[in-house]
Amino acid sequence: MHTHLLPERLPNFADKFGYGDFIHLQHHRKGFARMMKGEVFFREIGENCWDPQVRIHEYARYHTPVQVVCTIPVMFSYWAKAQDCLDLSQFLNDHLAGIVEDFPEHYIALGTIPMQDTDLAIKELERLKTLGFPGVQIGSNVNQLNLGEAQFYPIFEACAALDMAVFVHPWEMMGEADMKKYWLPWLVGMPAETARAAASMIFSGVLERLPGLRVCFAHAGGSLIPTIGRLEHGFNCRPDLVAIDNPVTPRHYLGKFWVDSATHDPQLLRYILDVVGETKVCMGTDYPFPLGDLEIGTFIEKMGFTENTLERIMYKNTLEWLYG
Ligand SMILES: [Zn+2]
Repeated sequence: MHTHLLPERLPNFADKFGYGDFIHLQHHRKGFARMMKGEVFFREIGENCWDPQVRIHEYARYHTPVQVVCTIPVMFSYWAKAQDCLDLSQFLNDHLAGIVEDFPEHYIALGTIPMQDTDLAIKELERLKTLGFPGVQIGSNVNQLNLGEAQFYPIFEACAALDMAVFVHPWEMMGEADMKKYWLPWLVGMPAETARAAASMIFSGVLERLPGLRVCFAHAGGSLIPTIGRLEHGFNCRPDLVAIDNPVTPRHYLGKFWVDSATHDPQLLRYILDVVGETKVCMGTDYPFPLGDLEIGTFIEKMGFTENTLERIMYKNTLEWLYG
């Protein structure tokens, strides 16, 4: 799970909607395209970002027949007018539905929804359910609003009611403008952003009030799990600041949500398995991007786990997260 896929051709949404730095693609040489954010170059992608057959072939080298795909977070477009974001989301979701229909043995898709508008987000969630999607991917913040804000609660409630899994992916990283050098938004901002999202969902009581909601946090939960002691200590020493919406210690939620395995660090992965349990870590890659685990769990296979633990990490946990 945790792989990203984009249509090979995108409509020019900026022209269509008449505003905004929507992503468009320039296919400037064979097998590659430039993702452009308005007129600004965002990143170059290869055909393994859009060609389902190329991906199946690449994955097969690592004995992985099935990928859980979702859009690239820069496509979320929560900053756009809600109706336009719904339009864009439906385009991406219909494309993913087509991939699953064409290659049912190889792809499971997570949809995207216009989080900036609660009603439209739920409307698209309901449509995704009818299309057979097992869940959605959402950003770690929505126009810098935290996921624990009251306006998002009905969306999580709908996810739980519709039996839709939620994948929280960092995007619009905090502090990005202040630390552009050294790729710090990706290396430091993303883990912090995921911790922010998870901590907000814990402290606001979303996870407490919706015990049936199946949430998975990207990149092994970012910096959440490595700082759980600090979160718990803060909860205990300053309940007046921390325990105001949920009286339950954050450590209680370890083992109640899922995380992916994208740590690039066997020692950290071992620690995470210890604290969240071996039923809650899913093989996640971030393929096809360079920061991903592009050898698809080879480092995990070398960690000396039992067959049972490996089966859990490699697919059983993902199926439980997605389908209950
Ligand atoms: Zn990712």
